Parts: sequence; structure tokens; C-alpha cells
Amino acid sequence: MFVASKLPQQLDRSGWVAMLPARTPRPSLNRTLNADVAIIGGGFAGLSAARRLSQLDPTLKVVILEAGEIAEGATGRNSGFIIDLPHEVSSEDYGGTDSDERRHDIKIHRMAIALARDLAVEKGWGKDIFDPCGKYNVAMGPQGDKHVASYARQLDSVKEEYRLLDSEEIGEVTGTRSFTSAIFTPGTVIIQPAAYIRGLADSFGGSVKLFEHSPALSFDRQGASWRIKTPNGAVNAGKIVLANNGHAQSFGLFRGVLLHVYTYASMTEAFDPTRLGGQRSWAATPAFPMGTTVRRVQGDKRDGDRILIRSRYTYNPRMQVSDGAITRAGRIHDRKFEARFPMLKGVRMQYRWAGAMALTWNGVPAFGEVEPGIFAAIACNGVGATKATAAGIAAAEAALGMDSWLVQVFRGFATPKPLPPQPFLTIGATANLSVKEWSAGME
Ligand SMILES: Cc1cc2nc3c(=O)[nH]c(=O)nc-3n(C[C@H](O)[C@H](O)[C@H](O)COP(=O)(O)OP(=O)(O)OC[C@H]3O[C@@H](n4cnc5c(N)ncnc54)[C@H](O)[C@@H]3O)c2cc1C
Repeated sequence: MFVASKLPQQLDRSGWVAMLPARTPRPSLNRTLNADVAIIGGGFAGLSAARRLSQLDPTLKVVILEAGEIAEGATGRNSGFIIDLPHEVSSEDYGGTDSDERRHDIKIHRMAIALARDLAVEKGWGKDIFDPCGKYNVAMGPQGDKHVASYARQLDSVKEEYRLLDSEEIGEVTGTRSFTSAIFTPGTVIIQPAAYIRGLADSFGGSVKLFEHSPALSFDRQGASWRIKTPNGAVNAGKIVLANNGHAQSFGLFRGVLLHVYTYASMTEAFDPTRLGGQRSWAATPAFPMGTTVRRVQGDKRDGDRILIRSRYTYNPRMQVSDGAITRAGRIHDRKFEARFPMLKGVRMQYRWAGAMALTWNGVPAFGEVEPGIFAAIACNGVGATKATAAGIAAAEAALGMDSWLVQVFRGFATPKPLPPQPFLTIGATANLSVKEWSAGME
């Protein structure tokens, strides 16, 4: 029997959720249901798995259990980049990777983008929710410039399209002269993550049932199926897709291989768009690994625009952060905002939040049939909008016995490497994050 030792707790809500109208969550589970497949976790991985299952067999009975509310978790807290090309790369990272593997990664990312694009078409979403606008990888000094140049060489080697921009050109896009160079790649899609995942959740009906405020408390084998208990109900399911990211460990699975790292974001109040030149909407990842992600979010006619700043990483093995940690990260965000946008002096941050990520030492997913009938799509490795989406699709296909290209690639990943023992792990992880953040400086 697998019993949850811990459930997710959210201290705050993200600016993305706060900016949306209130939504009535789906009811919690209060009876016993039978399902072909039960999915634990309603983030990118879980809901993408549900969508794939219903595409493959619309008659399949699927039950999704979400511990909290849709968009409360990391899926509604991220910066909204569904990237096609890896972005946190240094020349060393890229140089050491086999180019076939890189192409596999890119193909996987594009399969995730295809799922999101189909949904966007189905829903008739505008650019405020799903914007296939590409992204900039921006530098703020000589070290960053070197990364930009190196990234361009690596993109040449995988024959991917890009455009290099000098300081003036990226200034015309962003309205600030703070960036020294940039590289534009056209394939990334930018989403309003909370609206996206709510839309995906609300697309289910018929034989796919979603229950919110319904944490899986335990699951155990009952003959040929699995019985999952929630506080007021139960699900008997032939198969389980485990899509609760770092909380897989709370059931005793993937012990000693998941690194629980938090990252932080702040979003400004709406400001008069005439205060900042350039385009009204753009999205930039840092050229320098561990640097700062920045987005300008265009408001509607009544509202103004906002700037999102995402930076800072902390290692939190207990899978929770304090208000103090969010405040400390917020001070860093304020400095980074001021350095980039001196013309927006006086504009304050309206929302601040943190979110959990599950990484592995060797950057591979924790994927596969962990017990007969239990298919894991765990370890987003920080880029879950693409990787967890793809892992969810692959887990759905594997659960139905398919041996697709995607399933083969996911099965072919190395197994996650064991983490060093405590206290070396905490000391090492904290020191490593601090050194990398320090070397990123204002980038
Ligand atoms: C500030 C920030 C910015 C980021 N920016 C980006 C970005 O731009 N692009 C990108 O690709 N990634 C980004 N990420 C990472 C990305 O958000 C994650 O990789 C992604 O959300 C992982 O998706 P997931 O479905 O695997 O897990 P999660 O989003 O963590 O979803 C898991 C779900 O499982 C639920 N759950 C847990 N335990 C149980 C249980 N016992 N029963 C039922 N449900 C349970 C949780 O409530 C949660 O909703 C960012 C993260 C943060 C915090």
C-alpha cells in the first residue's frame, strides 16, 4: 500500500490566477467510482495525459484527482514559456550532448507544443492565452554576449532558425537599452499558464471526470486493479498515471532521486503602456544559465501592461517555502526590475509567488511503469510546460500499451541518478545554486 506522507500546500496564489475571474472548482469526490485509468495530479502532466487518453479512446473512463484547485500548483505559477529549443544552455552543456539527443528533445518539445496548439484552436484562444510569438534569449553584459554567440553556433549545428540582435535591435523590441545582445528563436509559444490549464481542465466532460480538492491519500492493489482513497471517496482503476511531480516521493516512490527546487516570480501592477517603448508583448529567457526571465504582458484596453520577473532558486527538500523566502526573492526581483526598466521608476510589484519543481541529478524524467499498472510522468526538470506535457502524453500512450516513438524515447532515458546522502546533499545543492546565482549577477 502506498500512503501519502504529505500533500501539497500553497502559501499564496500566482499573479496569473489572481488576474483571472473567479472560477468554481469541480466538486470533490464523495463516492466510489470505477475507472479504466485514474490520474493523480492536475498539472501539465496529468491533464495532458487525460487529453491524450480521451483522444486515443473517447469511451475510456478516466478520473483525474487534483489535491487542490486547478492552476494552484506549479502549472499555474510558471512564466508561461512552452519552449521548443532548450534555453538554459551553456557552450559546455551543448558541447557535451549528442546532437541526436538534442533533436529528440526538440521533437518531444514540439509534440507538447502541438497538443497546446490543438487546444488553443479548439478553444479559439487569442494571443492573451496562447501566443506563438517565439522568444528572445537576452544578455546583459560580456559574459551573456558570449553565451548568445555560443548558442547561435549550437543552433547552427542542429540547423535551427534564429536571428541575432544587437543592443539597439533588442532595445527596439523591449523598450530598454539594458540588454547588450539577444538571439530570437521563433518556435516557442507563450501562454497565460493559469488560463491555459483552466481551459484544458474545463475541456473535459463525458467519460473524463475531474475532481478538485480530492487528494489521493493512498493506493493499493485489489486483485487486478488499484484502489485509490481520497478523504471522502475512492476510485477503483485498472491503471494509474502518477502525475503529481515531486509529491510522487510522498508515496515513497523515487526516494533519493528527486531534487525539490523552488523558483520565484513577481509581477508588477499595471502601468501606462506609453511609459515603456518597444512592443507591448514579448518574452525573454536569460542567455546566462540561472539568470532572469522577463515578460511584458499586454493588458486589455482598460488595463495597462505588466512586467513579470522570474529568478532565484532555492533547495527545499520538505517541499514548502516560507513567506520570508518569497519576500527575500522579491527584493532580488525589485533590483533586477529597476536595473532593466529605469523608465518605470515607481511601478510596484503587485504579485509575488513561489513554485515547486522536481529535478533529477542527471536531468532525466522519472518515467515508466513503477509498479504493474502504475505509469509515472514525474520530474519536470524545470521545463514542465513542455517536458511534463510530453511525459503525460507518453504515460497515457504507455498505459494503453502503445509502443509509440514517444514512449520509446521516454523509456530510453537513463534512470535518475541517486542523490548524494544528507547533509552533503543540502550543503552541496544550496552552495551550487548560490554560486550559479552569484555568477549570473544581474543577468
Ligand atoms: C515561477 C516558475 C516559473 C516557471 N517557468 C516555467 C516556464 O516558463 N516554462 C516551463 O516549461 N516550466 C516552467 N516552470 C516549471 C513548470 O511550472 C513545472 O515544470 C510544471 O508545472 C510541472 O508540471 P507537472 O504537471 O509535472 O507538475 P505540477 O505542476 O506540480 O502538478 C502536479 C499536481 O499534482 C497535484 N498533487 C500533488 N499531490 C497530489 C495528490 N496526492 N493527489 C492529487 N493531486 C496531487 C498538485 O496539487 C499539482 O497540481 C516554472 C516554475 C515556476 C515555479
